[in-house]
Amino acid sequence: MAEQPNQIFDVAIVGAGVVGCAIARKFALEGASVVLLEKGADILSGASKANSAILHTGFDAPPASLELACMKAGHAEFLAIRQRLNLPVLETGAIVAAWDDEQLARLDAVEERAHANGVTDVRRISRVEILAREQRLSGAVLGGVLVPGEHVIDPWSTPLAYARQAAAHGACFVFGAEVGEAKRRDDLWLLRTPKGAIRARVVVNAAGLFGDRLEQLAFERSAFEIRPRKGQFVVFDKQAAALLGTILLPVPTEQTKGVVIARTIFGNLLVGPTAEEQDDRCRAAVDEQTLNDLTAFAARMVPDLRDMPVTAVYAGLRPATEKKDYRIASDPAKGWITVGGIRSTGLTAALGIATHVFDLFRAFGLSRSPPQDIIWPMVPNLAEHLPRDCTLPGCGEIVCHCERVTRREIEQALQGPLPAGDTGGLKRRTRAGMGRCQGFYCQADVAEIAGGRLASAAATPTRAP
Ligand SMILES: Cc1cc2nc3c(=O)[nH]c(=O)nc-3n(C[C@H](O)[C@H](O)[C@H](O)COP(=O)(O)OP(=O)(O)OC[C@H]3O[C@@H](n4cnc5c(N)ncnc54)[C@H](O)[C@@H]3O)c2cc1C
Repeated sequence: MAEQPNQIFDVAIVGAGVVGCAIARKFALEGASVVLLEKGADILSGASKANSAILHTGFDAPPASLELACMKAGHAEFLAIRQRLNLPVLETGAIVAAWDDEQLARLDAVEERAHANGVTDVRRISRVEILAREQRLSGAVLGGVLVPGEHVIDPWSTPLAYARQAAAHGACFVFGAEVGEAKRRDDLWLLRTPKGAIRARVVVNAAGLFGDRLEQLAFERSAFEIRPRKGQFVVFDKQAAALLGTILLPVPTEQTKGVVIARTIFGNLLVGPTAEEQDDRCRAAVDEQTLNDLTAFAARMVPDLRDMPVTAVYAGLRPATEKKDYRIASDPAKGWITVGGIRSTGLTAALGIATHVFDLFRAFGLSRSPPQDIIWPMVPNLAEHLPRDCTLPGCGEIVCHCERVTRREIEQALQGPLPAGDTGGLKRRTRAGMGRCQGFYCQADVAEIAGGRLASAAATPTRAP
């Protein structure tokens, strides 16, 4: 960000996860002046860098919850805008599959909840119909519920597109800017960061796993406590993607959505996530026993997975709290909006959350004129089912052969608005180093192209053990 010591922003958003990026986009499109402060070297340095990448319908969400409302709004808006941002979708649908009599008995309730939640195309599906759709599934399946609107999306290009559209409409992104002090004086917030002090009329706390800490910093107390919940994943080799077309979901419980088996937009098949409480807010370690259990679990349902090579394993941390629903609240007198506890559904709900947060902001009485012409920056396509750069003229040499990443893709990710800030950010923008060899062959070439422009960051995913 260019030094702007005298600038007063309408809103300072703390945290460039998917939620902060979507909020920045919404506020910029409504004409507000926006600064987004992120302690990492790039967007998606927290919870948003590792998830299951499912665009949920909300069929199993708690009825009448804010989470349900934001998911439904987010799902609809994503599908309405995605083509203008060049965001891919795999319209897989999902099957909630029952594997024992107890689960079978709960399927009626799953269908009823879906209809009550307004997801009316959800319907019971027989064992015969399931096996006709999914011929590599184990014959032990007893029945299910079909959820046609559950899809797979790109977990990294999606928030990048939101961030780029925000930047195209004037939003400033400041990285390496951990907010270490927040003071309110004369109706303005003064936020101190290693990159300088920022003044803003309103603060939006989208700090994810550190949301409660930011509340304590500003007010010496927080209405919620973050309790990180780890989810581990196994990513199977690309040949596994042919084994399953539809997302396979377990019968949900009140506690968890459970472990899913789903294709990825990048042409793999994943199984996960687990749900493990931990104190550490930063470290998302994988362990061999859990990964073996996940692989065995997947192979019980899709037997051909038993001998399938594993490309990668990874884990993410959900910013869960002591309560299930989102912790979104606004205080116009203090010029503060809290967006906390966006636990398991933030990728889906981000656009809906952003609209809800802007509606709260309207009550602060700051009216601005939206821009006349909306800019729609297109993000590069990384989806395997659509034409990749390596098939297009002038792409230059392929640098990462596992993921077919070209020199042009890497160079473009290092330039322009919001270039990759660290090695993890470059991987998420290009997929270089995320394939079978996990960067063994291309790491040196990628580093040479980057030419010292990147900070190092923990790789996502990590190599299979
Ligand atoms: C295992 C797992 C599976 C999931 N699966 C799905 C799914 O399939 N579909 C779906 O819709 N959702 C899914 N999610 C949920 C989704 O990933 C999260 O809801 C979402 O990432 C939360 O985003 P956030 O922006 O609130 O938080 P974060 O991504 O954590 O962003 C907060 C940012 O704030 C920054 N920050 C923190 N403190 C400060 C400070 N003081 N100053 C400056 N910056 C700060 C952090 O560095 C971070 O980048 C899953 C999550 C996990 C972990």
